[in-house]
Amino acid sequence: MTKTLEVERLSVTYATREGGLQALREVSLEVPAGQIVGIVGESGCGKSTLIGALLHLLPENATRTGGSIRLADEEIATASPRRLRDLRGQDMSVVFQDPMTSLNPVISIGRQMRDIQYRDRIGHAEKNDRAAAMLARVGMPDPKGKLSAYPHELSGGMRQRVAIAMAAMMMPKLLIADEPTTALDATLEIQIIELLKEIQKEIGCAILFISHHLGVIAELCDRVVVMYAGEVVEEGAVEEVFLRPAHPYTQKLIECDPGRLKRKVASLPSIPGSLPDLTNPPAGCIFRARCPYATDICIERPPRVTLTPPHWAACHHAQEVHG
Ligand code: ATP
Ligand code: SF4
Repeated sequence: MTKTLEVERLSVTYATREGGLQALREVSLEVPAGQIVGIVGESGCGKSTLIGALLHLLPENATRTGGSIRLADEEIATASPRRLRDLRGQDMSVVFQDPMTSLNPVISIGRQMRDIQYRDRIGHAEKNDRAAAMLARVGMPDPKGKLSAYPHELSGGMRQRVAIAMAAMMMPKLLIADEPTTALDATLEIQIIELLKEIQKEIGCAILFISHHLGVIAELCDRVVVMYAGEVVEEGAVEEVFLRPAHPYTQKLIECDPGRLKRKVASLPSIPGSLPDLTNPPAGCIFRARCPYATDICIERPPRVTLTPPHWAACHHAQEVHG
């Protein structure tokens, strides 16, 4: 299966007063072409750091200490700023939780949508027509009229539709959706999820989808990657992982409140205990202090145990947890 995105052993450390905070440690994951892959994990697990590393938008105190990031077989972890600008405009686009992150508040929607077509050698009127057609496609009422509107004149849901329209217009190979529905109510959330599904089918891109909402991941994604304290602890087809988790952390997330697979919630269930100190992560399994299955062997780093491929979990007792 071709891979649109392949992250291999990616490590990122933040310089802090307490020492180097190892926010990502040897993170590996892949997004196969045409698939939707969800990333889930509680606050602080490293989701934003991962997105920042993919887009080269990490804060100044961050350093990539190792690993590679390949987009359609091209190594992008070491890409030049110029190549990266091209990639971000062409091969990789992003929809953020807050659409105002990507929309300019003082420029009309129409001009912003024309500006992103700067590579296309077509006239102003044609660019406008394309922009309006894309707005219509994402369900915007009066799409032509909306071209002269400014972002603040639209509701949050409509702004997110504009952000999706702009991301889709670039026909990216990879669309990164960073909690795009978290700020929306449940009805709008369903509409945006449906829209993302349709857009994925139409342009054939792969989607990397970050969410706290297990139900949305279950509904939208083909695969899920579960992160804990800077590591990927489990990955596999959504139905495999959610129905028969093999890592105790994933099991806890689901067990804590199975209703969360259906209800909209702003955060993941809370699991007793807290995240380890990432300036001095414990040896062996990173989940050990909170794990009901922990035994002596867990002071050694757990291997990746493969269940039904591509389902695997980083746990000494994965087979037992999987049942
Ligand atoms: P959230 O869902 O709350 O955004 P997250 O899963 O995206 O969390 P990150 O924001 O990537 O997690 O944070 C991973 C770890 O890195 C956390 O321990 C966090 O405190 C730390 N961290 C994030 N940004 C910085 C920074 N600029 N300087 C120092 N530490 C940071
Ligand atoms: Fe728990 Fe041990 Fe598995 Fe870690 S390796 S998740 S401590 S059982």
